[in-house]
Amino acid sequence: MGLHPLRLGSGCFCVGRLSASHSPVLMCPLLKATMGLLQFQAPTQNDTMPWVVPTTCDWVVKFQELANTQPEAYFLELPHLHRGEKGQQRWLEEIYGLVRLLENQTGRKLNRKTLLSSVQIFMHAWKVFGRLIELRRKRVLAGVWFMVAANSFLLDSIEIWTERVHQMLETVATHPPAPEGNGVFLAGSPIIFPNFKLLHLIETAGMDVYGDDLCTSERIWPGAVCYEEPSYRGIMRALAERYHKACICPTFADNERRINSILNTLQQHHIRGVVYHVLKGCHPFDIESFNLEPRLKSRGYHFLKIETDYVQEDSQNILTRLEAFGRI
Ligand code: SF4
Repeated sequence: MGLHPLRLGSGCFCVGRLSASHSPVLMCPLLKATMGLLQFQAPTQNDTMPWVVPTTCDWVVKFQELANTQPEAYFLELPHLHRGEKGQQRWLEEIYGLVRLLENQTGRKLNRKTLLSSVQIFMHAWKVFGRLIELRRKRVLAGVWFMVAANSFLLDSIEIWTERVHQMLETVATHPPAPEGNGVFLAGSPIIFPNFKLLHLIETAGMDVYGDDLCTSERIWPGAVCYEEPSYRGIMRALAERYHKACICPTFADNERRINSILNTLQQHHIRGVVYHVLKGCHPFDIESFNLEPRLKSRGYHFLKIETDYVQEDSQNILTRLEAFGRI
């Protein structure tokens, strides 16, 4: 529809302090920092585009109320059960509602041709991103650099992002792989630039991240859209299904596939263990860790849960735990 979606989210501790006096102490630091960022650079009266807020976790649902800024949020009501037909149908209706909103805002009509062309642009981006994932698995690309590329998704237009990632691929593809080392899988709460504390500490402890499950990294979007019927309705249905059924965010109630997907990656790529990141106040990932830990350990994988914030004061403590984990 000629619009550029911009993801709201911040990993900056400094701006987070701006909102500290009027937000709950144990609020998700990612959203606290985003609130601070909006105070720092508040939307102007000309910013009429709505904030689209999918009702994922409770903090996100309450974000508009806490941030108390304009424009009003447009809530996309996310059905938290995604296996049944009922939830999928409700989600499809939400997506049609969003299209109506955007059509009203832009005065444009979404049609089959533009929808199809957008799906193809994202499919191409997905292929390029898949190659980047492969290079990380082969130890050609370090975990931190991979995260930089993934974090920059949607900052510019998708076409420019794809082109830049492609250039990055051409540069690093000729590099020799790093010696086989101590690879780990990173799961849990999202990590957003510039807060790469945990990634740096993992590397300092002599390990590298060979794969992850973060919604700001490998899981930035759930893959290419496959439609059976290339009609407007057929593509809309396929799009809705892809972003609902295929999403493995822990805020869903029926989420067995998520744990199986982590286990598969560990098995396929001979990764010995999981570092599980929990941002203080992030309940969905904290709750999940109690289910994931015994499942992994019963299959012989190591598991280390790190609960932290955007602060630096706990770095030495985390490093000591990571070094001990690396020696197991
Ligand atoms: S899922 Fe966790 S990290 Fe994401 S917004 Fe909610 S509380 Fe914050």
